[in-house]
Amino acid sequence: VDRNPGEPEFHQALHEVLETLAPVLDKHPRYREEKILERLCEPERQIIFRVPWVDDQGQIQINRGYRVGFNSALGPYKGGLRFHPSVTLGTMKFLAFEQTFKNALTGLPIGSGKGGADFDPKGKSDNEIMRFCQSFMTELYRHIGEITDVPAGDIGVGSREIGYLFGQYKRITNRYESGVLTGKSPNWGGTLIRKKATGYGAVFFAEEMLAANNNSLTDKTCVVSGSGNVAIYAMEKLQASGAKVIACSDSNGVLFDKNGIDVDAVIQVKEVERQRIKAYLEHHPEAEYFENGNIWDIACDVAFPCATQNELKDKDAQTLIDNGCIAVCEGANMPCTEKAVALFHQHKVAFGPGKAANAGGVAASALEMQHNATHSSSYDYSEEHLHEIMINIHRNCCQTAEEFDQPGNYVVGANIAGFRRVADAMLAFGVI
Ligand code: NDP
Repeated sequence: VDRNPGEPEFHQALHEVLETLAPVLDKHPRYREEKILERLCEPERQIIFRVPWVDDQGQIQINRGYRVGFNSALGPYKGGLRFHPSVTLGTMKFLAFEQTFKNALTGLPIGSGKGGADFDPKGKSDNEIMRFCQSFMTELYRHIGEITDVPAGDIGVGSREIGYLFGQYKRITNRYESGVLTGKSPNWGGTLIRKKATGYGAVFFAEEMLAANNNSLTDKTCVVSGSGNVAIYAMEKLQASGAKVIACSDSNGVLFDKNGIDVDAVIQVKEVERQRIKAYLEHHPEAEYFENGNIWDIACDVAFPCATQNELKDKDAQTLIDNGCIAVCEGANMPCTEKAVALFHQHKVAFGPGKAANAGGVAASALEMQHNATHSSSYDYSEEHLHEIMINIHRNCCQTAEEFDQPGNYVVGANIAGFRRVADAMLAFGVI
């Protein structure tokens, strides 16, 4: 804490991981002797930069940009860019730290990183978004590259922003380096599955968790917080799996549709019209919208927090438990507080932590990098490939939790399995 003042989310992420690692450190003394934990908790690099841009009124605006390269033991830094007014260095560090374990769990050759800016895309015109992205990339370009650091999207950064960022990178560097960013449109080097991969992957993970208890998603009532990229495709796959999604949200309120959320209408509202979720009522006036509502008050069998960190607190966990919820699967990064997670474990609610459950997105990104490295346009990765990756991650978490006498504890399984892969590479590389 003294070393990283004013970074509560980073402290929280460290605490949650470090708390679970004692058994693996006891089993393999070299990890302690060679100070692997101390090294793992210190980012390899942190870049902070000014992002000046001109708004539509001709006024100069200044934002702060970040890129944290956390760990490159397993491959180039890999992790998204977040544009949101709440972004601080501490947010970036917590996300990049989580990414270290997540990326290791995929089994793919990717290190960890995260970046972004305290820029608020809400209400900005298309031109303003473009000018911001161009200014952001004008500094970022010198720190990234297909074998150095490969950013992707996150909150506030979707395929439109990736397009502007890539265009500027290409222009400044005189290189058509497809593998420098992932989440690209399939028209110019992206893969069809990437956009859907995080949401679909979280549902595949939930299916595995339920199957481990001889249950399934069929006919389950679900709620999904958020209405962005992860939430939309989690809802789409849930409906396809025979579950019924009755609510989603944004930071203004909660949408409830007892007939089941019409995902096509959400896609129209959010991706095409770029409206607030409330505008769903124009498509379905019979649905209900609760301004400032709390989505966790809605009774469900399975909950998918897919918006942002710490959105599900202990009192929300208690409400879900009281309402008979049997599983919680994190589509977002660290959306459940530590106390909420403790309650789920205590009440035997199956709990899938984000670093395992939402790893489908970065796994698909790693496949996009492989695809770009071949310089071919002919190959695309299938949904079956993603499904297989999620099944493997689930199995790895389960087996590791059992090995350390905590069967069914996916937090322990994910943390230890991810840790071992990174730690072993770090040991092999010597003191770096
Ligand atoms: P989007 O920007 O597409 O959507 C974010 C959604 O969450 C929006 O509905 C947004 O509502 C809501 N939200 C954001 N901040 C808050 C807040 N402070 N309070 C309430 N609601 C909020 O982002 P993504 O869907 O890409 O990301 C969602 C989560 O998933 C994040 O935690 C991200 O790190 C994680 N994730 C994303 C991956 C990806 O592939 N995109 C991969 C792995 C994890 P509003 O519009 O009102 O802000």
